[in-house]
Amino acid sequence: MKDCEWCHLSEEDKQFQVYKSTLWSVFLSDEQDYIGRCILVLKRHCGSMSELTDEEWEELRKLVCKVETCLKTVLGAALCNWSCLMNSFYKDADPDPHLHIHVRPRYDKPVILNGNTYIDGEFGHHYAVNKNGSIPVEDKEEVFTRIREWLNS
Ligand SMILES: [Zn+2]
Repeated sequence: MKDCEWCHLSEEDKQFQVYKSTLWSVFLSDEQDYIGRCILVLKRHCGSMSELTDEEWEELRKLVCKVETCLKTVLGAALCNWSCLMNSFYKDADPDPHLHIHVRPRYDKPVILNGNTYIDGEFGHHYAVNKNGSIPVEDKEEVFTRIREWLNS
């Protein structure tokens, strides 16, 4: 779609791309309320999971396995919360959503980055929606590097 921001990501948006497969891209989220939170974006403009092709589902299945294993391995996540929400697109009068899927790693023990400790205070419960997601830039870089290197090795 011509006006879709997700079809035309800027170089700045792509700065935190950790992986790409044939049909999907994976980015480290701006929001790091849950350390290692990422977003899977379908390269094709498509509005819902129900419209995915067999090939896109098959690649997504592999990607879910790969990203989950990565987040458990490099950050010690106990599990991952996956969500496909799309709500913000529907604030528009004429919604034209672009499929993307959020993954929030969840932790039963602290994550330590550059000496800073991050605790999943909601572990065992639904993720918090208004949690502060900003972390120091060097910690974000550390998470980015660990995830990108593991996914591309
Ligand atoms: Zn799009």
